[in-house]
Amino acid sequence: MTFRTRFAPSPTGPLHLGHAYSALIAFRQAQAKKGAFLLRIEDIDQSRSRPHWEEQIYDDLQWLGIKWQRPVMRQSDRASAYKSALNQLTDMGLTYPCTCSRADIQAAASAPQEGVPQFGPDGRIYPGTCREKTFDLQDAAPVVRLNMHKALQRISPPEFDEFGPLYRGTHQLDPDHLQSHVGDIILVRRGMASSYHLSVVVDDAAQHISQVTRGADLWEATQIHVVLQTLLGLPIPRFYHHDLIRDAAGKRLAKRDDARAIATYRDAGAAPQDILNLIGL
Ligand code: GLU
Ligand code: ZN
Repeated sequence: MTFRTRFAPSPTGPLHLGHAYSALIAFRQAQAKKGAFLLRIEDIDQSRSRPHWEEQIYDDLQWLGIKWQRPVMRQSDRASAYKSALNQLTDMGLTYPCTCSRADIQAAASAPQEGVPQFGPDGRIYPGTCREKTFDLQDAAPVVRLNMHKALQRISPPEFDEFGPLYRGTHQLDPDHLQSHVGDIILVRRGMASSYHLSVVVDDAAQHISQVTRGADLWEATQIHVVLQTLLGLPIPRFYHHDLIRDAAGKRLAKRDDARAIATYRDAGAAPQDILNLIGL
C-alpha cells in the first residue's frame, strides 16, 4: 500500500509554528517513503471559517516548500458523505438526539465524584440525560450523540498501530476508559454538517490516508476515531502523533497565538529556513 498522509488545518485563523511543524513532519515522511502528501481544508465550522484564511494556508505552505496533491479536499463540499455516515450509525441504533443546554449538562453532571473525570476530549463528559430519546426528534435536535455504551457492545475493542515517538506500539482500546473518560460524543450539531470526529474519519477514508499524522494533543480524539472507523467499517489507518513544540521556557505553544503566526515572521522578513530553525526541523 502506498504511504499517504495529510495535513488538515481549519481556516479559522493564521497557521502558526505548531502547524508548520505538523505539516513538515507529515510532508517529509511522505517524501522519504515516496508516498503522497495531501491537504484537507477543515472548514466544517462555516461560522468561523474564512476564505481569506484558506488562501493564507496555501501561501504559507508553499512558502515553506511544501507541495501537496490536487485537488484539495474541502469539508464544506462533503455534507452528503457525513450524512450517510450518520445514517449508518442511526440505522445501527447507536445515535440519539440531545436537547440539553450547556447549563443542563453542567447541572446533571455536578456533584463531582473523586476519581471520575468531568471533562474528556469532547468537552464536558455527557451525563446521558437524553439517552432514551427517540428519533423523530432528530432533525430538530441541537445535537445528535453517539451512545458509546451501545457502540462498544457492537464491536470487539479495536487495535491501532502508533508509529510516533511518544506512544509507539500497538494499542487496544479500553471500553471502560472510553465510557468513563470520553462518553457520548457529539456526531452532528445543528447548523453544521458534522462534528470534527465524524468528518475526520469519513474524510481520511475517502482520501485513502494510510497514516494520520497529528499532534499528541489529539491522542484521546484518535481513540474516538478508531471507534467510529470500526463501527462504520472504514479502514483503521496507522497513526503518528508528534510531540508539541514548546517555547524557550518549555511551555507548549498554543495553536492560536498570533505572535507566532507564520505570516508574522514572513512579514518581518524571515526566510523559510528561519522557521525550520525555530521549530527544530
Ligand atoms: N482540523 C484539525 C486541527 O487543525 C485537524 C487535526 C487532525 O485531525 O489531524 O486541529
Ligand atoms: Zn441531552
